[in-house]
Amino acid sequence: MRKPLIIANWKMNTNLSEAEILVSYYKNAVRNFSHVDIVICSPYTWLMHLKDNLSRGKTHIALGAQNVFYENSGAYTGEISPRMLKGLVRYVIVGHSERRKYFNEDITDIVKKINALLDVNIRPVICLGESTKMPLKHPVWGRSVAVDGRNNIFKELEYILKNIRKKDYEDLIIAYEPVWAIGTGEAATGAYAGAVASGMREKITQLSNKKIADSTRILYGGSVDSKNIAEFVRPEIDGVLVGTSALKVREFSKICEIASEEKRA
Ligand code: PEP
Repeated sequence: MRKPLIIANWKMNTNLSEAEILVSYYKNAVRNFSHVDIVICSPYTWLMHLKDNLSRGKTHIALGAQNVFYENSGAYTGEISPRMLKGLVRYVIVGHSERRKYFNEDITDIVKKINALLDVNIRPVICLGESTKMPLKHPVWGRSVAVDGRNNIFKELEYILKNIRKKDYEDLIIAYEPVWAIGTGEAATGAYAGAVASGMREKITQLSNKKIADSTRILYGGSVDSKNIAEFVRPEIDGVLVGTSALKVREFSKICEIASEEKRA
């Protein structure tokens, strides 16, 4: 069984003291929710401090980064390499829609980043999602658009899988993040996200095998909060990527609590 994974994406928020306070509160608030794995993706600048903070006392919270460059060293002013993150984080988000929108990242950059992370044993959390809402019921190519292999999400997933080593498939984490749902307050429904997640798992099965597809964690992200989290606790979805609500300790811990309880039930 896949253990649910809850990832907090703090984006470009917090100063050092806010980050330290948030993590200290998080540690306390989620300490009993051990049925979910929890990852905090803070800005790079706080990672060392937070690692130190997390090493004090007992916690199951792990650290992640929000981005990485694909070269390990060289004349790339301002960039952070996979090798620099090794030992500091276990996960890195790649292909987030905000990186694509504001920094023109494309799928070839994303594949390079994924491979560079896998080379140093850091698990990529790969964000994939459509920009405009797709009708779930309305068939266009004979199948509902949302789950048809010809839509861009599945094309990108196929491109990624075809351009990484098969032995690395089991280290991938996929986050289905419909762009229209990110930061808008309009989450997808559980049925919608579940259908896309199932389509993704089908695609992974086609390109590898059922065993790998069954062990791959596929998360949902987009306006998740304590009121809608129960929607996403379903067999097809293995956790959530949380932005806005991750900066509010009570909201975030409630999300972890519900995900933890529902899975146990
Ligand atoms: C995100 O940034 O990946 C995200 C899901 O943000 P929000 O929860 O604010 O929609």
